[in-house]
Amino acid sequence: MSTNLVTVAYIAAIVLFILSLGGLSNQETAKRGNLYGIIGMALAIGATALGAGITHYGALVAVIVPGVVIGAFLASRVEMTEMPELVAVLHSFVGLAAVLVGIGNYLQPESGLSSAEATIHMIEIYVGVFIGAVTFTGSVIAFGKLKAIISSKPLTLPGRHLLNIGLLIGTVVLGFVFMNAAGTAGLPALLGMSGLAGLLGMHLVAAIGGADMPVVISMLNSYSGWAAAAAGFMLSNDLLIVTGALVGSSGAILSIIMCQAMNRSFISVILGGFGQGSSAGSSSTAPSGKATATSVAETVELLNDASSVIITPGYGMAVAQAQHAVADITKILRDRGTTVRFGIHPVAGRLPGHMNVLLAEANVPYDIVLEMDEINADFSHTDVVLVIGANDTVNPSALEDPTSPIAGMPVLEVWNAANVIVMKRSLSVGYAGVDNPLFYKDNSLMLFGDAKANVSAILAEMQKTEAKLPAMAGQR
Ligand code: NDP
Repeated sequence: MSTNLVTVAYIAAIVLFILSLGGLSNQETAKRGNLYGIIGMALAIGATALGAGITHYGALVAVIVPGVVIGAFLASRVEMTEMPELVAVLHSFVGLAAVLVGIGNYLQPESGLSSAEATIHMIEIYVGVFIGAVTFTGSVIAFGKLKAIISSKPLTLPGRHLLNIGLLIGTVVLGFVFMNAAGTAGLPALLGMSGLAGLLGMHLVAAIGGADMPVVISMLNSYSGWAAAAAGFMLSNDLLIVTGALVGSSGAILSIIMCQAMNRSFISVILGGFGQGSSAGSSSTAPSGKATATSVAETVELLNDASSVIITPGYGMAVAQAQHAVADITKILRDRGTTVRFGIHPVAGRLPGHMNVLLAEANVPYDIVLEMDEINADFSHTDVVLVIGANDTVNPSALEDPTSPIAGMPVLEVWNAANVIVMKRSLSVGYAGVDNPLFYKDNSLMLFGDAKANVSAILAEMQKTEAKLPAMAGQR
């Protein structure tokens, strides 16, 4: 393939990646966005493989084919609740790839570079390997925490900030050694820096508490993008530079949005400062009030009498896989003329958009699925709110208790509705580990049990009533 044709293919792939990102920003266009991404990536791999300089096709096929098969197999089996772990593993691959590309590039110096170009190239290698190593080990630790192989508690070593600064100083010192070494004599410095950067990545992520892990994942997403961009500079590959920059900047923007949604300081989260605060707050973790239990029959009665209903799902709905029964209840209520809407907290579930994906999968119409900011003012004129497997995202102490570890985090103000039915198995705490005063409010009723079992029972009751309606109409 001629260089011009490769350039045209690269430009087309870049446009497709940008369209893909644009498509992914909205549920209605997300499928199309994914398709653009797939076509762009196929084009990028094809053009790179057929471009000048690639001669060992046997080796290329030998790595790509097993990679495609293993990737497709694992991705098709992964549950939505396991997505953060999958994403963490994929980020670690990008980081490791950047490290290996950097070391490979250093060992095979480019000839014909002027002294200034050679210096810039060395800096590209050093910075690329640094970002790659931080991303690699940070992602491995994130995977361990999300998979509960490693404790989700923040690791708070004494003088941990000094340790980070020490590691950074070490990388700068080795950087001078690396830059001043002739030929490939800087390899020990490069490898030494990789070790220090790896330790830094491990320590930074280990110091972050479980509640902040979604931010860490999007932050590592951003790092993996910058690592890919750095690899693009090393390989003089424009497509990799642009793609890496797209991933890096979109990951950074997502991290900032999530920090705002959780009222966290972005800088504190990435430095491990807030993990400690969020897990070691002073609020109670044990139930501290008297909750009123309700039944499926009473819930159905309240729903039958309601003219407006808001459903706020959370992590428990995803675990129970209750979304299909929830969608069926929604349809019955809407067919009767009841206004039904969904209120989605930006971090409900295990990752942003988790609830939207589940509801879309169950064919809930997009236009009744609203963001927290769009629906928060409407709770006060809503008859019934169904809280399905959500806890931290509907916790009033975020607004009412300044000592709470989640103080200041914007939440769905469900308690303003006339009746709130909370579906969960017990009074136990959510992921942030904080008791929830919502359970003890006068207008709250607890429907204990597995969300899918309860939602299915409500659906069965409603379907029975529906079946009776035509018969009753016939008798009249
Ligand atoms: P929460 O974690 O606050 O609450 C979920 C609730 O679901 C739990 O209190 C649990 O209560 C209930 N639940 C679990 N399984 C079931 C089930 N089968 N049926 C019914 N209820 C069930 O989730 P939210 O979505 O409200 O809040 C999300 C926040 O928590 C985000 O900040 C998110 O990042 C974080 N989070 C992080 C996770 C991680 O791995 N990093 C995992 C989950 C949440 P009970 O035990 O009484 O049933």
